[in-house]
Amino acid sequence: MSKTTSTSFDEILAGQIFTSPELWSNFEILCDDMGCRFAGTPEEKEAARFLEGKLREYGLENVHAEEFEYNGWTRGKARLSVTSPLHRDLDCLSMPMSPPGRVHGQIVDLGAGAPEAFNASNLEGNVALVTNVNPTSEERWIQRTEKYNRAILAGAGAFIFVGNTEGVGPITGTLGFNRWGLIPGIMVSKEIGLFLRRLTRRNEQAEVEIETTDTQARKTSWNIIGDVKGSSDHMVVIGNHYDGHDLAQGAEDPTSGLVAALEIARVLPRLSGRLECTVRFVLFGVEELGLIGAHAYVDSHPRDIANTRIMFNLDSSGRNAPLGLMLYGPDTRAYFRDVCKDLNEDLFVDQETSPLREPEHLSADHYPFMAQGVPSCFLRDPENSLTRTFYHSAHDTVDKVRALDIKEAAFLCARLAWRVANEDRWPVKRPSQDEIAQMQSEYDKGEVVQIEKAVEVLRRKWPQR
Ligand SMILES: [Zn+2]
Repeated sequence: MSKTTSTSFDEILAGQIFTSPELWSNFEILCDDMGCRFAGTPEEKEAARFLEGKLREYGLENVHAEEFEYNGWTRGKARLSVTSPLHRDLDCLSMPMSPPGRVHGQIVDLGAGAPEAFNASNLEGNVALVTNVNPTSEERWIQRTEKYNRAILAGAGAFIFVGNTEGVGPITGTLGFNRWGLIPGIMVSKEIGLFLRRLTRRNEQAEVEIETTDTQARKTSWNIIGDVKGSSDHMVVIGNHYDGHDLAQGAEDPTSGLVAALEIARVLPRLSGRLECTVRFVLFGVEELGLIGAHAYVDSHPRDIANTRIMFNLDSSGRNAPLGLMLYGPDTRAYFRDVCKDLNEDLFVDQETSPLREPEHLSADHYPFMAQGVPSCFLRDPENSLTRTFYHSAHDTVDKVRALDIKEAAFLCARLAWRVANEDRWPVKRPSQDEIAQMQSEYDKGEVVQIEKAVEVLRRKWPQR
């Protein structure tokens, strides 16, 4: 790869990205005009059409929408009432994938939801109160779905998920990855959670009634795809989901990364004819209910997956936070450290090499790629999402995001993608199918998968509603 070429590419790219009003215009259209784009809403469909139109307008090739089916969910009204020792109605919302139901029971405060907390003797038929903080006793990240699944297996009748940030209301998130929940799950603000905790501390028999009215149904969504063609069969994928949660506009998550991807798609075709590999844009549907679009893409493109050098995940990358390169799958640290020198970028570069996946990795769109042995690069804050004040809350709105942060994410990812796409020799050894199968079977023996499997066994016995 000639350095002069990449330097002049950077100059054209910077000029395009840092001077154009297009990026912010796309951002406001997606967030203000279309809103949350939650899976199954008319706004989701509108966004899919808008993105497809933009990729065509920008001159990409092979632009199309790929349809897939999934287990969908529509929010209904939720109710939370303290019935003993006092009477009070409290604000709450049901959590995505919660079934409808009505449960009356004692509140059992399980704190941060450490695995051993679910051994509480009084949980059967009662209501688990769990915060979204990670238990300090655990080294690994315990995802909300694991806490919910443990509550189901312990016989709880319902689940209350408590936010951990003052003043932002409940923190949302799905209760199952493409799986409907088995017991009602609701979310409350940190303040309401603390009230319930105090009530429980002073009254052993503090009781609540919970009612959810959500509906579960099979639905259809779309991945939006477009290519900037290179001269070989090899491919670099730039991905980002376009669905948000229905509490807010989803400005940081996912739109700050989505418009960065769109911006790269706008600029790259102006420089085409100079690419060795094809750069493919995949704008995923239904990430928030379980990476469903990303799984659908990987499952239906085995040949492209075999030819994919790397998948860049831009999700939330344009929010106001430092950017690092979080690498997954085959080790690409040495390569990216060299590239960072070439870019004059002092970036934090780290690699998750140990297991095929951990629960945390399940929650972003690069996971299905990495599970097929594709190296993945997640452009994100190395300090991670726990410090994200507005994450999955009603306050994830346009005013939290700065255009300059989105431009930086777009510029950085475009420079990286350009270099990987033009490398004469890509120095990465992909695992064989046997090695992938071996990693998968080791992971399947782990606790998180065993818990999911136990819930599936229970689902088959579960009374039909
Ligand atoms: Zn996201």
